[in-house]
Amino acid sequence: MSYEERMAQEIVAKALGREVTQWDTGKQPSMYDFDIGTTGALEVTTIVDEDTRRALVRAAKNHSIRARNLHTSWVVMMRLPQDGNKVLIVDFRELVPRIEAALAALEAQGQAEMPKWDSLSKHLFCDASCPVRTLLGYGVTSARQAPQLDAKHGKPHIELSAMHGGTVPPDVNLVVDAIEHTLAKKQDSWEKLHVPGKSEREIFFWAASTERHTHRLIQEDRQPDRGPDVEKYGLTRVWVGAIGYWDTALHWTQEHGWQRYSHSS
Ligand SMILES: [Zn+2]
Repeated sequence: MSYEERMAQEIVAKALGREVTQWDTGKQPSMYDFDIGTTGALEVTTIVDEDTRRALVRAAKNHSIRARNLHTSWVVMMRLPQDGNKVLIVDFRELVPRIEAALAALEAQGQAEMPKWDSLSKHLFCDASCPVRTLLGYGVTSARQAPQLDAKHGKPHIELSAMHGGTVPPDVNLVVDAIEHTLAKKQDSWEKLHVPGKSEREIFFWAASTERHTHRLIQEDRQPDRGPDVEKYGLTRVWVGAIGYWDTALHWTQEHGWQRYSHSS
């Protein structure tokens, strides 16, 4: 079970005061994730917007890159650049050699690791020759030498993971659009809930989110002005949470509209 699934299970069980038990054992395809009592079925999924998905697919293709100018392999995490809520498409062929050059400069300084967050910020004021500042400029959030990868690959490589900062639009009403968009794209997410004996069909959406967006939706207790159009999918309740804020979610039903649930309140 993924962490997102486990957290959704906990929120739904507490918010509804009902037993939520795992149903998807992975033994059969197209099983929904959880039973809610005996009459409910729950699926847990993520909101994905198309541009983000495409950028991530592109990033994943460049996961492991031969690095001719490094002495040792490095593991690198970077945040994909964004314009508002859209993830920008990155040309990794152009970017990776620049990251490699900065890593080579770190190696030359005898550093096996980019400084951790707490000491990173002072490098923002370094001059342009500072490799840490350069890496920060490319969206790199962490980088460390990984000699064990040399054994795996035979030669130094960069193992690059790209994360996206967020897909929840700043206007909370657009969250509803994103839910509808996701349901239209991910037909399987709601189809599998249509099984005999289940009159309550619910989907929990985790939204990857930047801090700003999360604050609007989850922390600032802002609610969308309208509910999602889910009648055509046969859904009776829709949940929205933000990844990283594991104790809070909004849920919507036709009868009660949007409601907020938080462990802490
Ligand atoms: Zn510096």
